[in-house]
Order: sequence, then structure tokens, then C-alpha cells
Amino acid sequence: MRAGVLYAPHDLRIEERPDPSFGDDDVVVEVTYNGLCGTDATEYSKGPMMVPLNAPHPGSGHQGPTILGHEFIGTVVDAGANARHRIGERIACGAGVSCGECAWCRAGRTNLCAGYYTLGLSTHGGLAEFVAAPSRICVPIPEGLADIDAGMAQPLAVGIHSVDRADLSPGDIVVLLGVGAIGSFICAALKDHDGPVIAMDIDEARLAVARQVGATDTILIAPDATPADLRALIPDGAQVVFETSGVMGSAERAFALAARGGNVVLVGLNKTPQPLNLADIVLREVNVQTTVAHVCGHDIPAALDLLGQVSLSSILPAHVVALDDVVSEGLDPLVGGTARGKVLVDPRRG
Ligand SMILES: [Zn+2]
Ligand SMILES: [Zn+2]
Repeated sequence: MRAGVLYAPHDLRIEERPDPSFGDDDVVVEVTYNGLCGTDATEYSKGPMMVPLNAPHPGSGHQGPTILGHEFIGTVVDAGANARHRIGERIACGAGVSCGECAWCRAGRTNLCAGYYTLGLSTHGGLAEFVAAPSRICVPIPEGLADIDAGMAQPLAVGIHSVDRADLSPGDIVVLLGVGAIGSFICAALKDHDGPVIAMDIDEARLAVARQVGATDTILIAPDATPADLRALIPDGAQVVFETSGVMGSAERAFALAARGGNVVLVGLNKTPQPLNLADIVLREVNVQTTVAHVCGHDIPAALDLLGQVSLSSILPAHVVALDDVVSEGLDPLVGGTARGKVLVDPRRG
């Protein structure tokens, strides 16, 4: 089969690989679409941060060149003896593999599993014609849901999990600080929130998308806006603030936007440590929440359900690229910040 394999930063090769081997609990999926996101772009341009190129991954045991791709859907073409899916079934894969037995798994927090690993980041993934995946992390795609929409299930699941972490109440003022890729999926996941959803970004085009996905208000902010500048926009503060950008100073701005007793959900990953005035956070009893990945058994089905209600592919236009063009039309625009909509790779296309 043909696959996109990361060897080193800026060294992703499209090459012939053996078809994946699979175990009794696995399915083999012929990939229809594999989405690319900022995580792939970071691994490609600045990594390896998560991909175990140089040392074995503690969860997966994999080491060395790795087929990327953690946002994939496809059709089951082979199945182990214990797999739950039949050949021919369309599935969306959660990509995160958990053991099902540790304390975190038993508490339903499978994304924090002691042995957690991710297909396409900690071992081979879906940027290939075929991928083997544990059957239990694959969810059937409802009949009638188009592949192009189902292809957004995994990143939308990440948005849904972020919203679950926010402890929202009806009427809460919600601020999204940054509505790039993950921000727009969080915005979509807030569809049923009964209250204002205010998107803030430095990019007017992203705000336009946020309005279409469901933001009730949008505010264009200056790249050098101070925490006090943002605070002045919502004087009483927001009950929930999602910080999605991870850029320097963003956490301080997010806390400045939070109301007394409000929740700040940190979504973006900071590349370098950020200074924070913790006394202000303590004195206003602001809650710090964090979110990572998604809870496969809950969030992938929820994402597929939501995608059946809202055609995200028509709002976040999916840009389908061939495997050979994955760097020039996928990763490079994501690294350069010029990608618009969602990049989906069709590995069956040369
Ligand atoms: Zn992703
Ligand atoms: Zn576990």
C-alpha cells in the first residue's frame, strides 16, 4: 500500500509499505479520508514532539518512521476474530487507544488511560491506503451521513470533549479566544448552548467561519491586545473562556476575560512557559480546566450525531488532496497558517 511516512522534521515520504498486520481485536480499514490538523503540522515542522521517531513509545511500543494520520474514516475490509465490525461497514476511528482496565478507563476517562497511545502519532495511522485499528475505537458511520462530513468526526469529538470539560450552565456567557481549527470545532460543539457565544480572533476570515458555525457575536482583536484591553470588552467577564491558541500571553488574556468564579478551559498547547498572575486568579476564584483529546466511546458517537444535524463540510470547506500532495497542499499551508477550511487527504488518489 502507499502511505505518508514521517522520518524526521520536514521529511515526510510517500512510499510503498506492507499492508498492515492485525490482531484478533482489530479491523483493517481502507481509508476514505484522513484529516490533517495543527498537530500533524507541528510534528512535521517542529517535531518530533509526540511521534516516537527516536525512542519507543511507552504505550504503543512503536519506534521509528511513522505513518501519520489520526483523523480517519473508511471502510472495513478485514476483521479479526473478536472485532465488532463487519466487512463493508463504514467507520469513523477515534484514533486514541486505551486499555479499558486501568483506574482512568474504569472511571470513563479513557483519554487519560495509563497506556494511552494514538494511531498516527504514537504508532502508524491513517495517512495510508489501509490502517489497522482496534475495533473498539471505531464507530459505525450512520447511513445517510456523507463521508465528507463524517471525515470531521475526530476533530469535532475533540471539540465536544472540550465543551464537556467546561461545566456550562444555561445562560452562561462563553468566549472562544481563538477560532482557528480547533476553535471552530468547539464553536460547533456549542450548538445547543443556551446563551451568548462570543468568538474573538485576530483574523476576520476565521471570525466569519465562527459566525456560520454558530458564534452569536464576533470581535476582531489586535494581535498585541493586552489582558486589560480584552477585559474592557466584557466588563463583568465570561462564565466560560476557551483558550485555543497557545500563543505567548494567551493564558493571561483568557484569565482576564473570565468572570469571578468563572471557568477557563485551556485547549491550546503552549510551546514555551507563560507568566501568569496567579494571585488575581486566586482572588477571583477562577477555575482552571484543561482538556486533551476526547473520550472515544462518548465523543465520537456524539460527533457523528452532530454532523448529521449540521453539515460542517459546507461551512468549513473540506479541501480534498491526493496523497502525493500531502506536503504541498496539506502540511505546508497548515504550517504557514494559510490553510482554509479542513484538509482531508484521500489516500486512494495518487
Ligand atoms: Zn488532529
Ligand atoms: Zn486504561
